[in-house]
Amino acid sequence: MPLSFSRKRKASPFGSVVSGNHHLMVTAFFLFPKMLYTETMFTPNTKLAAIPKITPKYQKLLDKLGLQTVQDLLLYFPFRYDDFSKVVPISQDYVGQTVTIAGIIQKKKLARIFRRKMTIAEIVIQPASTRGDDRSSTRGGDENNTPLKAVWFNQPYILESLPEGAAVRLSGKLEFKGRTFSMVNPAWERAERTQTNTGILVPVYPETKGLTSKWLRWQLKPLLESAQQMEDTLPYDIRQRLNLYDIYTALQQIHFPENQEKLLRAQKRFAFQEMFLVQLKTLQVKQDWEQNNSLAIPFDEELIKNFVSTLPFKLTNAQRKASFEILKDLEKPKPMNRLLNGDVGSGKTIVAAIAALQAMQAGFQVAIMAPTEVLAKQHFESFSKLFAEYDFNVALLTNSYKKLNGADETRPDLLQNIRKGSIELVIGTHAIIQKDVKFENLALIVIDEQHRFGVAQRALLQQETMEIKDGVAKTIPHLLTMTATPIPRTLAIALFGSLELSILDEMPKNRKPIITKIVPPTGRQEIYAFINNEINNGRQVFVIFPLVEESKAMTEVKAATTEHERLEKIFPQFKIGLMHGRLKAKEKELAMQAFKDRKTQILVSTSVVEVGIDIPNASVMIIEDADRFGLSQLHQFRGRVGRGEHQSYCFLFSSSVGNARLKALEENTDGFAIAEKDLVLRGPGQFFGTIQSGLPDIAMEHLANVNLIKHSRAEAQNLLKADPQLKKHPALQDALLKFSEKIHLE
Ligand code: ADP
Ligand code: MG
Repeated sequence: MPLSFSRKRKASPFGSVVSGNHHLMVTAFFLFPKMLYTETMFTPNTKLAAIPKITPKYQKLLDKLGLQTVQDLLLYFPFRYDDFSKVVPISQDYVGQTVTIAGIIQKKKLARIFRRKMTIAEIVIQPASTRGDDRSSTRGGDENNTPLKAVWFNQPYILESLPEGAAVRLSGKLEFKGRTFSMVNPAWERAERTQTNTGILVPVYPETKGLTSKWLRWQLKPLLESAQQMEDTLPYDIRQRLNLYDIYTALQQIHFPENQEKLLRAQKRFAFQEMFLVQLKTLQVKQDWEQNNSLAIPFDEELIKNFVSTLPFKLTNAQRKASFEILKDLEKPKPMNRLLNGDVGSGKTIVAAIAALQAMQAGFQVAIMAPTEVLAKQHFESFSKLFAEYDFNVALLTNSYKKLNGADETRPDLLQNIRKGSIELVIGTHAIIQKDVKFENLALIVIDEQHRFGVAQRALLQQETMEIKDGVAKTIPHLLTMTATPIPRTLAIALFGSLELSILDEMPKNRKPIITKIVPPTGRQEIYAFINNEINNGRQVFVIFPLVEESKAMTEVKAATTEHERLEKIFPQFKIGLMHGRLKAKEKELAMQAFKDRKTQILVSTSVVEVGIDIPNASVMIIEDADRFGLSQLHQFRGRVGRGEHQSYCFLFSSSVGNARLKALEENTDGFAIAEKDLVLRGPGQFFGTIQSGLPDIAMEHLANVNLIKHSRAEAQNLLKADPQLKKHPALQDALLKFSEKIHLE
């Protein structure tokens, strides 16, 4: 039964009790300096906690997002925009479109539906007629005077701020049903307020529970003025040359863009800035790198030939060539810095083993670093096997594992043996380059799955490589990095300008190509029957869920969790593992390890699942909502099966069967060909790894083109040539320092 409702509520969650009248507040400030304030008095360095509008409760939520100062908030970017910029009269012409309509509130009421524990807040507005009585100018005669009904579910408090007679703007999808115009859950705003929620391109931010985009908009709008005092990281002449916005304009337009074009320019500025910093950092590291010397390791052809002849397979030509390039680098007294780029399963490990063998046989130590414990353990097992016939000591050193050859060891014992040089090969995670790990004569470090790190983090890893206590005066280790993301060559040169490249563009001969099929929703049962059969034959199955928008990370976890429960009902006879980003690192490891040990037959996972993991027994990869992934990423997932002797399958579940990306995947198995296609389809954003900028992917994706990289690189080179230590650019120096710190933390 609908009830009329007009109870006063104490505090609106949007705090709209505060007046937005600026002049009044400025005057008031001079009259009562201690009591009132205006946003113009804040500087970028002001602590958010010092702003009266931001109560401790909100400060806590902001803390969660890592936002402490005004500047932090200004640099907290929207990840998308709702386009409410189309302000129109009520008309059939706009039905079905997202528009903004202004009007005067005629009626309001609140209905409570007790049975469903639901409230419906409703208002009816009469369009504010800006055209007076000139009705002849609108098509359809009276349309312009037709009322519009707006309803909101379960937000009764909205009516508090919407008294009858007030002028409002409503933004949302215009509907026309039963001869009534309506909007469901529209964004709204009192007409006298500055437009932040309606009538414009409205920014949508990554939210956290209790902190809405609406609230953030309300905070940000007045604080934007303080950006005038922010020092611009980008030097003036570079901005001039490339026609980039200054920081103040760019921030205005990124938060409250006047139109799409200005938004694009703002995003371009930040994308450039990010890439420019990356390039500066990379070039600086390169400058330093080239100052160094390394141990020269002579190439022992007999040794390598013998080793290769003991392998159960023949090397591919690509493996042969890459190994030779690396061995040649090792002979030089200058540090190698080479990237081995090869598709999943192209056999990078054996190439690394050849390099390691050469260094160890010459009497030096080698370290191999993997991004996770599972991968480190896997490498430890394969390298121990590969070198079983040799007299090397191989250690595993991670936070959870400490092993020497077959046996468990203590960390102090391992460290001591590493320092004495009695351990030739140290395999581990980032733990192996911590400060307390000292080597006796480390000549080579291999970093696997380097794409797991962002481009800038890679520069940092390289810097750390220089700082490792390798035990030999005046040298640094040779560096070999490996990545399973095939990167188109044009892009690789721009992205990894400081690296030499070796490419494994050829798969081992014995591989059976993975059979890939797009599966429409109707095909699900058939696939489940197929899975059942595969598992009964001893195989294992991956089920992957896509990563959804940042602010909806929980949805992804929920989808995976729900599917896990569902599959447990469908396959009660099997054990089913679950893995997602909300699990602790240790729990993820356990889930992965259980699958590797065949304790679970199906692994349901979000996109966090390990890239380099080798589970030859897994023969089926199912990808849910496959159309949500990029091509290269889909290819990466697919690469997790087909690593053993079994025929393997990849099923792409999707309701958009005609999807060009999925089709391309169905037809192609070559990672480099797929990468080229993806570069055309989506631009280079995805090849960067996580740039960790806070800059949303949308900005990176349509703006981070090869030209942007080229320009940022050229400008960075120019600048460093003129000012190698950045002495004349303190703002830039500062930004670079913060940038490195930020990357370090992540
Ligand atoms: P990735 O490049 O993804 O790291 P791996 O080095 O793990 O690939 O190799 C995948 C599998 O292929 C391993 O089981 C490895 O022993 C095998 N392999 C490597 N090179 C060859 C080859 N030339 N012929 C046949 N199998 C190979
Ligand atoms: Mg690998």
